Amino acid sequence: MANTKVGLVRRVKTDARWKYYPAAYAANGRVKPGVAIVAGIEVKHKIGHYELRYYEGSKLRFESLSGISPAGSENMRKKKEAQLSVAKEAKKADVQIVPPDPKRKKLTDQLDMFVADALGRGAEEAAEVNKRACDEFLAITGKEYADEITDEVFKQYHREMTKRGRSKRTVHNRDSNVKSFLRYCGFDTKGLSKPPKYDRTMPEIYSDDDLASLFRSITDPKQNLLYRLLLGTGIREQESMYLEWDDIDTQSKTLRVHSKPKWDFRVKDFEERALPLSDDLLARLLAFKAKHPAGKGPIFDRSGQPDGHMLRTLKRLAREAGLGCGVCGGCKADRSECERWFLHKFRATYCTKLLRSGLDLRTVQQMMGHSDLTSTMRYLRPAENEQTQARINTINWG
Ligand SMILES: [Zn+2]
Repeated sequence: MANTKVGLVRRVKTDARWKYYPAAYAANGRVKPGVAIVAGIEVKHKIGHYELRYYEGSKLRFESLSGISPAGSENMRKKKEAQLSVAKEAKKADVQIVPPDPKRKKLTDQLDMFVADALGRGAEEAAEVNKRACDEFLAITGKEYADEITDEVFKQYHREMTKRGRSKRTVHNRDSNVKSFLRYCGFDTKGLSKPPKYDRTMPEIYSDDDLASLFRSITDPKQNLLYRLLLGTGIREQESMYLEWDDIDTQSKTLRVHSKPKWDFRVKDFEERALPLSDDLLARLLAFKAKHPAGKGPIFDRSGQPDGHMLRTLKRLAREAGLGCGVCGGCKADRSECERWFLHKFRATYCTKLLRSGLDLRTVQQMMGHSDLTSTMRYLRPAENEQTQARINTINWG
């Protein structure tokens, strides 16, 4: 009958050769880190790793636990022993048991790594957004492994999100957060169901009333200025994070958007641009600068570092100011973060306002830092354009 005992051995280098010695245990059953029993004596071998030693039939097998802690290795040993003994019993009962694939990775473990990687890059907000989306996905679908994810799982996920009152835009965003995580796990997401369509050709913009109430209610001078700047220059969230006083040229009344090697922030050629500042915005910037002596960090810093929490702050301020719409999925959820307030919407509003002012497409494209005209054209909303309405009225229709 098969032997189901599994030993924990330490693979160590002695006299320039790799050898196996039994791991040493303390009286309480814990593995003594790095200690091996050599000729009956406990010897500490810092360099080396643990392996499992067991029989498969009559064949002696070793399984490397390289990179796993002493306690983790002991857990692996107990698990292996349990598996072998279950397999033995199953064989007796003529039942076939399929052992788990050691290469099969748990999604929750992978998610921890995914989030840790993002935090390691300083992308706190992205880490948080992705974690929230993936946690929700795992809770809704109840799946544990990437290979359980099918098209049907995604269809169920989209249905449930819609049922929970999420807007189409949110479903889209969460869906792409989850899919980027799955790609990180090495999963091909190409064949998976896409979320319900929403019209990307119509960017959401703030109404003049929205903006008036925002600027009226946000009393924090730095945040108030940030939102005015996002609206008045259309710069991206990333670009605003690294903005410094040197980027503002008071002579030419422009704001220069360019790469910041010291922050490891890069813009592409067509994204580099000088943006005209309105007299009002320039005056506000200079007034703020006069009251807040410049430190070494960016203008809109968070303790001297680029602020990675701009979106969260906007959502919080909008909530505190009672600016939530009250009907979206975000407003109804516990966190009550209104979906109608987000940073990119300032940029969309800027672009729309430029186009409605009569500026030509090419100029607006350049000001937006768009690589192609199609991106800029998405902001043309002829049906809602008052000027178009006025023109229609001047036409003699017979
Ligand atoms: Zn809302």
